[in-house]
Amino acid sequence: MAIPGELVFLEYLAVIFMGVVFGSFASALIYRIPRDLPWFYYKKGGQTQACRSACPHCNHTLAVRDLIPVLSWAMLRGKCRHCHAKISIMYPLAELTCVAGFLAVYSGFGLAWPFLALYLLVPVLVALIFIDAEHYILPDELVMGVGLLGLLHWGLYWMMSFVNAGHVFDFVVIGGAGFGLFAWILGIVVGKVLKKEVLGFGDVKLFAAIGMWLGLAKLSYFAILSGALGIVFGLAWRLAGKGAAFPFGPALILAFFVLLFI
Ligand SMILES: [Zn+2]
Repeated sequence: MAIPGELVFLEYLAVIFMGVVFGSFASALIYRIPRDLPWFYYKKGGQTQACRSACPHCNHTLAVRDLIPVLSWAMLRGKCRHCHAKISIMYPLAELTCVAGFLAVYSGFGLAWPFLALYLLVPVLVALIFIDAEHYILPDELVMGVGLLGLLHWGLYWMMSFVNAGHVFDFVVIGGAGFGLFAWILGIVVGKVLKKEVLGFGDVKLFAAIGMWLGLAKLSYFAILSGALGIVFGLAWRLAGKGAAFPFGPALILAFFVLLFI
């Protein structure tokens, strides 16, 4: 049965709205995780205070009108309303990337419960890309999130009888272990040849989490695609004059996201 046009339009609106909401969640992850900031409350002088979003420069608590994804940033022209300090373009970019990711999942899979983990995965991946590009780290809690969502994804597919328990085991356990082992050995071999560390242990853990989603059968595709993207990103990184250290996370994540659809 074909879905009427108006309904598709409403679904698109819902997907974009969710993308915006999860996009601002992603930008909160990007800001708070590398700085080890608390999420809900903190203690100050024996008093418990709620965490509210504040300008990192002047510490002014931000009002709702300052926190509207993308729009607030554009209307304030990337500056704090109070102290006029510059606000990084990374935050609205992360929000837009999240919306794009939601639209991609929607057009590839549709809007239904069995695909919940795919949608939840998007803000986690966006946060990983932007944090790795700025701080050269892949925070454990986010990498673990990717793995746990993989488990949720196959669990949902199993509940819907899309796959049987054997398939779930193959993906989650064999896929996760295979990808992790591959990255670990590759890191040692390439490190010995080039005499410098190319794959950090954070990358190995991310490989394992990605393997839980993709399964061992996609390992060769993943290795080739992420390697090719890594070379392209690495060249762009060098051309942009960003220095010798290069974050590999974004190439891994983009290759992973593409392979989810194939
Ligand atoms: Zn300020």
